[in-house]
Amino acid sequence: MSKTIIVSNRLPISLRHRNGRFEFKPSAGGLATGLGSIYKEGENIWIGWPGNTVEDPEQRAEIILELHDLKMAPVFLTKEDVEEFYEGFSNETLWPAFHYFTQYMVYNPAHWEAYVRVNEKFCEAILKKAGPEDTIWVHDYQLLLLPQMLREKLPNATIAFFQHIPFPSYEIIRMIPWRKQLLEGMVGADLIGFHTYDDMRHFLSAVGRITGLSSESGYIQAENRIINVDSFPMGIDYDKFANQAKSRKTQSIVREFRKQVEDQKLIITIDRLDYSKGIPQRVQAFAQLLEQHKELHGKVSMIMIVVPSRDKVQSYKELKEEIDLLVGRINSEYSTLNWKPVHYFYRSFPFEELSAFYSMSDIALVTPLRDGMNLVCKEFVASKTSQTGVLILSEMAGASKELQDAVLVNPNDRQGVVDAIYNALSMKPAEQKARMVSMQESLKKYDVFQWVKVFMDRLAHVKAKQQELTSKDVDAKVMSEIEVAFQKAKKPILFLDYDGTLTGFVTNPKNALPDEELKSIIKNLSAKAEVVIISGRDKDTLGTWFKDQNVDLIAEHGVWVKKKTEKGDWKLYAEIEDGWKDDIRQIMEYYVLRTPGAFIEEKHHSLVWHYRKVESGLGDLRMRELFSHLKYMARGHNLQVLEGNMVLEIKRPDINKGRAATAIMKDQEFDFILAVGDDWTDEDTFKAMPKNAYSIRVGYAYTQANYNIKSVKQVRQLLAKLGS
Ligand code: UDP
Repeated sequence: MSKTIIVSNRLPISLRHRNGRFEFKPSAGGLATGLGSIYKEGENIWIGWPGNTVEDPEQRAEIILELHDLKMAPVFLTKEDVEEFYEGFSNETLWPAFHYFTQYMVYNPAHWEAYVRVNEKFCEAILKKAGPEDTIWVHDYQLLLLPQMLREKLPNATIAFFQHIPFPSYEIIRMIPWRKQLLEGMVGADLIGFHTYDDMRHFLSAVGRITGLSSESGYIQAENRIINVDSFPMGIDYDKFANQAKSRKTQSIVREFRKQVEDQKLIITIDRLDYSKGIPQRVQAFAQLLEQHKELHGKVSMIMIVVPSRDKVQSYKELKEEIDLLVGRINSEYSTLNWKPVHYFYRSFPFEELSAFYSMSDIALVTPLRDGMNLVCKEFVASKTSQTGVLILSEMAGASKELQDAVLVNPNDRQGVVDAIYNALSMKPAEQKARMVSMQESLKKYDVFQWVKVFMDRLAHVKAKQQELTSKDVDAKVMSEIEVAFQKAKKPILFLDYDGTLTGFVTNPKNALPDEELKSIIKNLSAKAEVVIISGRDKDTLGTWFKDQNVDLIAEHGVWVKKKTEKGDWKLYAEIEDGWKDDIRQIMEYYVLRTPGAFIEEKHHSLVWHYRKVESGLGDLRMRELFSHLKYMARGHNLQVLEGNMVLEIKRPDINKGRAATAIMKDQEFDFILAVGDDWTDEDTFKAMPKNAYSIRVGYAYTQANYNIKSVKQVRQLLAKLGS
């Protein structure tokens, strides 16, 4: 039976040294709870770092045993690993980059080396547990290289990746010297998840620009498989928070706390100490509120919990000092004997007390400058069983995409935040309730268990889709079947597309001329079979490139034919009516003028708008615009607009490769037919083939062909075999 392995930098426990011994403290975090439904089942397991260094081999062995009972396996990191991989590359390069704090980014090659080394360490640890058919779900930015490392060792495993922090714009990603390796690491997965649509579209754009892999509707086309990228906003354990808030324990704490703050309105803020959370900006906004609204003095307090984090790192130390100073200033300026504006706690609280804070607060002020998701805002909503209270939420938090009924603010707009707090303080209970009920319904439905389920279902779906495509793969068995049939045949024929099939794509299409290897493959093949080169290229280019070869040529998708038996010139296969061209050319020229790098190619029966050399992204945008523009014109002229590989072509629909291929086979009996192509123009060929033909599409797209083949390299291998 195959099993599921969860992998994250940290195990859902903390290992602590105490008096020369160690002890485990389980983590109660949302992720640990959500994934509990997976790793605690059957043979499943969670692999990660226990959160502390252990050098003694005996202690390590003991820890392995104890963790085994908890369905966990440790990856031990050295002190150096922790410093360079975790504190270094993960937290000083990736964390600031991914949160748009480029000013804090450190570019240290030694940190990068450690990052690679530790990802390898994780890979080794997983390989000790994983079988070739297992499912491995890797979590977060510390392990971006891991999916590809695993893929190389376990090519058939089901590998998923989820990123819990934001994925920034390509503009940020391109700053990282190791950007290509990082992205290539991630695309080792079959499914890549993010919290929001924006994160996923940033990722797809970066992958396209940096690795050259193209994508459509969230599917990346890799060499031998498709990879799905999607958004899965993570939820919380809703019932846990709702039930705790209603519990007697929490309500008695609420009564206790209330005695101390009397009937003041309370604003709760809870964050880990981090520059991405916008804590100083929030204190400043509160100060500005008190400055502008004296009538609120003595009536409103902010409860500010800052959970200690990384406070040995210089920039965090400075952040802590800045917060201390700001809070000191505001309290010293406004406090009275029975009122303190900010109740500031630099420590974490037990769950019941946290629940009491959420439950008793009138407003939650959640204003990160950037946050992947933010769970605090969701926990507040779940804890408001009274269905009153107002959530003020930063637009920069992933959660804002889901919680449209919160009061959304831009955390950099201080006056905007001040006004939001002011208005929230006087919001009518009916409006509070309407907003709260709507948010609660949504969070209840999309809780963390649902998140896990949806993610795992999607993973199964991607795998099934891959299977569907690879079931048609030209593997060794199919290869030899084709070879045997070919050797047996008395009169074989091969239809071979050129670009993307016999040769790869290049920036300038004129440079894609046949190399020596290809020339010799074609020469050998044409001694044994009819070879038809069937291309969209113009007749002069094809004629020149295959001048010395004993092959038939079909140019411009079937407009022109040159048979080797009929010496001499090209024959027109279709009558050309090109009265439409002037109108269309005019429109295309307008798009060339607006798009540096674009150009028009004129063929006998068609006009082609090329955008391979246009700035990435812009070309696609202009092509779509031109597409919708041409669609209407095309109808009037009875033409067809078709999207190709970095081209848009407009042509008469009755002229296509299929028709030309059929004409070539007319009046002759072939006992072996093979057609190979790579794009939609070749689909016409595949469709026109008789039942007994072998048809093969290069790449793993849906196709009418009977088979898919990985790449040009494999096509050449197959043809070389047939010709040998
Ligand atoms: N939290 C906690 N103890 C505390 C304060 C907060 O365990 O004293 C938890 C809080 O309940 C929430 C998490 O810390 O689940 C913070 O998650 P969030 O996504 O908001 O921010 P992150 O720290 O992951 O960036």
